[in-house]
Amino acid sequence: MKIIIAGAGAMGSRFGIMLHKGGNDVTLVDGWPDHVNAIKKNGLKANFNGENITVNIPVMLQSEINSSEKADLIILFTKAMQLDKMLQDVKPLISKQTKILCLLNGIGHEDTIEKYIPMENIFIGNTMWTAGLIGPGQVKLFGNGSVELQNLGQGQENSAKKLASFLSESGLNAKYSDNIHYSIYRKACVNGTMNCLCSILEVNMTNFGATKPAHDIVVTVVNEFATVAKHEGVDLDVKEVVEHVESCFNPDTIGKHFPSMYQDLITNHRLTEIDYINGAISRKGKKYNIATPYCDLLTQLIHCKEDILGAN
Ligand code: NAD
Repeated sequence: MKIIIAGAGAMGSRFGIMLHKGGNDVTLVDGWPDHVNAIKKNGLKANFNGENITVNIPVMLQSEINSSEKADLIILFTKAMQLDKMLQDVKPLISKQTKILCLLNGIGHEDTIEKYIPMENIFIGNTMWTAGLIGPGQVKLFGNGSVELQNLGQGQENSAKKLASFLSESGLNAKYSDNIHYSIYRKACVNGTMNCLCSILEVNMTNFGATKPAHDIVVTVVNEFATVAKHEGVDLDVKEVVEHVESCFNPDTIGKHFPSMYQDLITNHRLTEIDYINGAISRKGKKYNIATPYCDLLTQLIHCKEDILGAN
């Protein structure tokens, strides 16, 4: 099976390394020249659960793609705002048989993917694996994780189950879900609260959780997500989701961490995925005539911060 990892930053590198270690034919495709050149020259270097490893995986820039060999599976791991350009660039690698798996955070990526791939070949999901990019050609991979995925096309359940088993053979701990949009919305509620609020307030999750308004803000934002989700046929259990979000405040587990949006925006002055998290709720809210004032404001405040910090 010829696998393309389309977007080989932190997460793409993790999946690339694990699938490569699992004996598969993996090629990384990425748009960051320094990163691609470092991997070409020195291999992909990873601190993998404390052990320093170097993996020699074929890699190319998006601009170097040619159509000589089609992919069987393309795993998308760009940031959300890079997705459309990546799909345009990998088009020469796509045949009628090519399956696409999207595990990006955020809501509504299928609308972008559908422009390029027939529905029956699209699989979406989310992942609890994590990864960090140390610099060009170097990643940090700690801990365990899992993947949940589902087919978008009708009658493709068996293909989705086979894809999950295939990923699990390389240790990715993947399983088929019969309600993936629920999981995607549930995870987006964590990102739509912790990521933007900790970035705007410049605090870790425990410190945000210790503020008096924290609970009210979380409840209001989760309710906006839930109201929109309901119009999309997803019935979120608000109480459970709020508890799930607030479990992030625990200093003994992940509370002392700064969410990834904080690291991208505040530490590295990179643009954020806010338009595909709270921004997606604002857009869908307008479509369904639902007021989403907290998501509207949080989206705009993050854009203010991007402008102030000159993020790119
Ligand atoms: P990433 O920022 O590491 O990589 C995304 C793209 O940005 C890659 O093409 C990468 O080469 C490029 N890039 C990274 N740093 C750059 C720089 N300094 N200059 C130029 N280009 C740069 O993104 P990621 O963390 O791998 O996330 C991919 C998707 O997975 C996102 O939707 C994210 O929300 C989601 N996700 C991430 C994690 C995580 O732990 N990192 C966990 C679950 C889901």
